[in-house]
Amino acid sequence: MYNFFVDGCARAGGSFRISGKDHNHICNVLRMQIGDTFLVSCEGTSSLCRLKHIEEDAVEAEILEEDYRNTELSVHFYLFQGLPKGDKLELIIQKTVELGVAGIIPVEMSRCVMKLDEKKKKARRDRWQSIAESAAKQSKRNVIPEVCDVMTYKQAMGKAAEMDLFLVPYENERGMAETREALSRIKPGMSVGILVGPEGGFEEREIELARQAGAAVISLGKRILRAETAAVTAMGLGMLHVEMNLDGDGQ
Ligand code: SAH
Repeated sequence: MYNFFVDGCARAGGSFRISGKDHNHICNVLRMQIGDTFLVSCEGTSSLCRLKHIEEDAVEAEILEEDYRNTELSVHFYLFQGLPKGDKLELIIQKTVELGVAGIIPVEMSRCVMKLDEKKKKARRDRWQSIAESAAKQSKRNVIPEVCDVMTYKQAMGKAAEMDLFLVPYENERGMAETREALSRIKPGMSVGILVGPEGGFEEREIELARQAGAAVISLGKRILRAETAAVTAMGLGMLHVEMNLDGDGQ
């Protein structure tokens, strides 16, 4: 479910008035219709709202339920995952959905062993999506994260460049300063891409392209983690950081 952040003055009785870039997002990007529901977070609590009026420069969102139990993170993490061997991506999808991922983008990378033809890609995607769905239900998520079609590295860089923050855990990166610094830049409402390599890791050229797309290249510690461990660790790190420092207790 979409979540918009407003400050206290947007509240008027039983509704919120949402203007500015969120108004544009609701009307022109998401093309929401009267009656659509979404969350509005204001001063630390979330309300389930319904779109009531659309005006030129603002929308009115009627509050249906205050203090709505939202299990979603206020930060949207997108996992870009270099295609791993066999059915490892299934485990990665299940675990990262439990941890609160907003979407998963499988990526073809130079050192991927698994090569899928178009027919297989379609069949796999359907299966991956159904795994995301059951993991979302099991973990009581408010949304079912989407597993996108497999992307080429170039396509993935294009999508990653649109994120507010793009993190690349790299096996050859040393020291935790960058990791700490990158976490401190995460703010509520942001989209954060995380790109994890396949078993074979990254080629240097791929790291270079990621940097050009705005990546912060980070370490996940001194040990070499398997791709699935790295994905779960990075997502767990992001989730706990947001839960502990940004989303507050009991929300
Ligand atoms: N074959 C490589 C390891 C690849 S591990 C080697 O032997 O060096 C698969 C992916 O997990 C990596 O591309 C990276 O994205 C992530 N990863 C594993 N260990 C990591 C670490 N210590 N720090 C950051 N990322 C790591």
